[in-house]
Amino acid sequence: MEYISTRGSAPALDFAGATLAGLASDGGLYVPREWPRFSGDEIAAMAGLPYAELAARVMQPFVGDSLTPERLLDLTRAAYGRFSHAAVTPLAQLDQQHWLLELFHGPTLAFKDVALQLLGLFFEEFLGRTGENLTIVGATSGDTGSAAIDAVAGRDGVDIFMLHPKGRVSDVQRRQMTTVLAPNVYNIALDGASFDDAQATVKRMFNDTAMTSRFNIGAVNSINWARLMAQVVYYFAAALQLGAPARKVAFSVPTGNFGDVFAGYVAAQMGLPIERLIVATNVNDILHRALSSGDYSQGTVTPTAAPSMDIQISSNFERLLFDLGGRDGAAMAEQMRCFDNAKAMQLTNAQREGAAALFTSNRTDAGQMAETIRWGWSKCGQLIDPHTACGLHAARSSGLPSDIPVVTLATAHPAKFPDAVERSTGQRPHLPARVGDLFEREERCAELPGDYAAIADYIAARAVPKG
Ligand SMILES: *Cc1c(COP(=O)(O)O)cnc(C)c1O
Repeated sequence: MEYISTRGSAPALDFAGATLAGLASDGGLYVPREWPRFSGDEIAAMAGLPYAELAARVMQPFVGDSLTPERLLDLTRAAYGRFSHAAVTPLAQLDQQHWLLELFHGPTLAFKDVALQLLGLFFEEFLGRTGENLTIVGATSGDTGSAAIDAVAGRDGVDIFMLHPKGRVSDVQRRQMTTVLAPNVYNIALDGASFDDAQATVKRMFNDTAMTSRFNIGAVNSINWARLMAQVVYYFAAALQLGAPARKVAFSVPTGNFGDVFAGYVAAQMGLPIERLIVATNVNDILHRALSSGDYSQGTVTPTAAPSMDIQISSNFERLLFDLGGRDGAAMAEQMRCFDNAKAMQLTNAQREGAAALFTSNRTDAGQMAETIRWGWSKCGQLIDPHTACGLHAARSSGLPSDIPVVTLATAHPAKFPDAVERSTGQRPHLPARVGDLFEREERCAELPGDYAAIADYIAARAVPKG
């Protein structure tokens, strides 16, 4: 399988190359040259497989020759063996129509573990072949950082520099990053910055030849294709349990960077019968505006109780626009150039109509978020986190026919956001025992101004140069 850039001028790479590269050299994102497709019979034959085996089967066409099927299965077994639930991503039923897909049973209690535990193993595997060192530079609104750090802490050949907006992540999120004291882990809190500022810094570094000529810079953000690929698997796992391929299933996805929900789009392209993908935003609603009116324009970020969705530029949206716009890299590069200049653009008719065929969208405000957390507890006995609440609110407002099961992706454990949950329900969710001493552990974190040169200097002074 070959990977091409959404902006058309970077060299095509194999899976290992795309995994190590992260962002393409022309500023675009890597996507597979075409979507592999499973027949109904092939999908039906996946029912009942253990998660690690299902994962290897769904991902093999994307991995191509970069890993043998046996080696891929070794890696999925190692990654998912670290989850605390045997089903890895179990479904919980809420009522006749609604289900939660619990994606928070990994080491850092958010869905990002599902992809990053595997990505850490891919990095080690592919770097071992080249003998090179990888300098991972990432930006986090909270959950990517902790999941990525857990996945690569102490691993050979990798250093990780993780930027987070100071004061904009929850205490649990921050401590899950800053209490990892492995020597290859560098946390950086950016003063006065938003997540979008931190993400813009990372994107700039990928295009800064002064840095890229000296260091092999890699990505763990969802601009890395391998992450999205790993997330495709749980759409299959959930739909199979609910009767696919004989029955269609809808998904509601709490969305920020459009990574998780893009994985659902990929699952649909691969033949999984998905009735609808509901894009659930909080009040930072650029995606809701883009999908409902074609207006993709950056607003200012409003901090909410669901900080991992406090995003006004959704990197992975480019992958969808590229696919829906006829896969024209030159046109995509031009559209993104306009967006970078004007901080706004209009979707083309083809992009709007293509998106409308599968996606709907919904925006959840603070009151609706609190109300949904309350409903989950009082009517279903489930504590849900504020991100999941945006998804569930959108699911319950979707108006889908009652014979279509609607699966809301539960993206974080409620104990990651205990204050919001307690305010709505009077119940304080407890951290699972395996992370219970988080608040006693020592923290280590650098603090820098949100200034590109200062950040680049800090990283250059500590990263391992190319060999
Ligand atoms: C990252 C995150 C999201 C948003 O996911 P995207 O892939 O960026 O759309 C939603 N909820 C939680 C808890 C997250 O950590």
